Amino acid sequence: MSALKKADHFNTSLAEEMDSSFQLHSPFVTRRIQLNHASSLPQIGSSVYQCFFEHSSDAMLIADADCKILHVNPAFVAITGYTLEESIGQTPHLLCSGVHSESFYDQLWESLNQKGYWRGELVNKHKNGDAFSIWQRINVIEDNNRQVLYYISAFSDISIIKNTERKLWQMAHLDALSGLANRALFEQRLLQELFAAKRSGQFGAVIFLDLDDFKKINDCLGHRCGDLLLQEVAKRLQLNLRTEDTVARLGGDEFVILLSGLTHKLDDAEKTAGNVAQKVLNALLEVYLIEDQELQISASLGITLFSTAFDESTEKLLRQADVAMYAAKTEGKSTYCFYHPDMLEQANKRLSIENELRFALQNDQIVLFYQPQYDAARQLLGFEALVRWQHPEKGMISPADFLPVAEETGIIIELGERLLYMACRQLAAWHSQGFKVPHLAINISPVQFTHCNFVDSVNSAMELTGVNPAAIMLEITENLIIKNITEVIEKMRLLKQQGIRFSIDDFGTGYSSLAYLRRMPIDQLKIDRSFVQDITHNENDAAIVNTIIAMAGSLNLDIIAEGVETPEQVAYLADCGCNAFQGYWFSRPLPGAEVLSILDKG
Ligand code: C2E
Ligand code: CA
Ligand code: CA
Repeated sequence: MSALKKADHFNTSLAEEMDSSFQLHSPFVTRRIQLNHASSLPQIGSSVYQCFFEHSSDAMLIADADCKILHVNPAFVAITGYTLEESIGQTPHLLCSGVHSESFYDQLWESLNQKGYWRGELVNKHKNGDAFSIWQRINVIEDNNRQVLYYISAFSDISIIKNTERKLWQMAHLDALSGLANRALFEQRLLQELFAAKRSGQFGAVIFLDLDDFKKINDCLGHRCGDLLLQEVAKRLQLNLRTEDTVARLGGDEFVILLSGLTHKLDDAEKTAGNVAQKVLNALLEVYLIEDQELQISASLGITLFSTAFDESTEKLLRQADVAMYAAKTEGKSTYCFYHPDMLEQANKRLSIENELRFALQNDQIVLFYQPQYDAARQLLGFEALVRWQHPEKGMISPADFLPVAEETGIIIELGERLLYMACRQLAAWHSQGFKVPHLAINISPVQFTHCNFVDSVNSAMELTGVNPAAIMLEITENLIIKNITEVIEKMRLLKQQGIRFSIDDFGTGYSSLAYLRRMPIDQLKIDRSFVQDITHNENDAAIVNTIIAMAGSLNLDIIAEGVETPEQVAYLADCGCNAFQGYWFSRPLPGAEVLSILDKG
């Protein structure tokens, strides 16, 4: 009998044969189905079964005792891609995807043989090669002597449900931007590794990674560029780590790496983790090509180790690695540090300053004081604006205590813009009230100066306040100049075109040479306090001050001494040719309101 004929025959004969049985059993009962003609229940015509078979939205197949397919319904054809003719005579192996193990099929057959049915999830292969998930029910049909007559199977395509499930899992466990694990999945894996390390006694490591100055890329080149860079970083991390290591993105430019099964010896584990960190550092340093632009970025890494001896929570380990990463930042970035308990106290202090500083900025706790600058005849030359934090509980906080944190965290950008605006507004107000203030010196942090928005922020402060640019003196440091000379000169030129002047602060403490200075469009050198302090009794300091003054003379620059505390210092400096002074001898920095008493109208 040809396969088709057999199917036809089967079609009618099976329907007739099964009539009685089906009255008692739905096709997918969980019991063994036996054909039984002795039923006395009302009959349903075979055409009804045929109709049900043909129009069911579930795929159905009927196979003989040798698993040879006798018949399939149209839904089967639609779901699998195999026509009736292609299916008949084949076994269900036709749909095998290769996804399931042998033991999976062993269990399936065990259930069929012992219970007469199987149901479960399965991955099948479409005729076009695509895998798809199904929910399948198979029943065994036997005769009265428990001889297998047929296998009937019905299944529905559950790919959509499975895809939704997978998407939900991804949303819960993966970072959408980078495709890496997210914090939740990382902590889950870390917890597993903590238990594994406890059992095995092998060390593991958590490496916290933060890109250096990533904010600048976002601010200057836009968030799209920032996102693309983060994706590239994610790729490089994956490329440079073993597949069994977990890399996650915690958010922003923060990534974290989990290394497990390092070794049993602390020294060796440290060495391995350090090597991995260095490899990652090197890989990230290579130039990136993002939207036709070449970019370079470094990273700072913090490492903490765990093994049986430690009883740390995942949260604690992440915090330790984070703290160590911060230590790497303070060590000058583009490096890695191992966690040490001493780092924690420092980190907590910094965190509280950071949080409070953000609040302070929003709540007008940041103010400017003004320290006058005079010539030898006590004529007012101008002021230097100096920032103060009026903390409601801690009182006045010195800039030395919060500026480094502001610089490390990037808050300095917002803070610096605010201070620039406040200083310009104050100077404009003095001028409009008719007070004679020749100039106001404003300190600029190197982080602020190198930020892409710097020139714009100065321009907008001037526009908003209407201040006279010729009365503004920006104080920058020598080290800024040395690091980025061309960029710095360009920005200075742009601002000088507006009439703004520049002073080199703390002069003498950096490493700038005459060659550098000659190239810079600067107006003034400010002799650092440390030289002024001992000028009258330390020959070296006196010699340095003399040199600085001579240098200023030959470069045609103004000169001013800061930190002048005694009349002897004034006399000595004046003798050397310095005729501008700032220091406690003349006045401490004053709040805006007190400045009015020393201002001169006309
Ligand atoms: P600096 O620019 O060298 O400022 C001079 C510092 O010396 C000020 O300290 C001032 O109060 C102090 N000083 C002035 N005269 C004397 C004196 O005769 N004897 C002694 N012992 N000290 C004197 P302050 O205000 O604590 O500022 C410290 C540093 O913080 C500044 O050093 C500057 O680098 C930074 N800073 C202050 N205000 C700002 C600001 O608005 N922006 C930025 N970026 N940095 C600022
Ligand atoms: Ca200064
Ligand atoms: Ca200074």
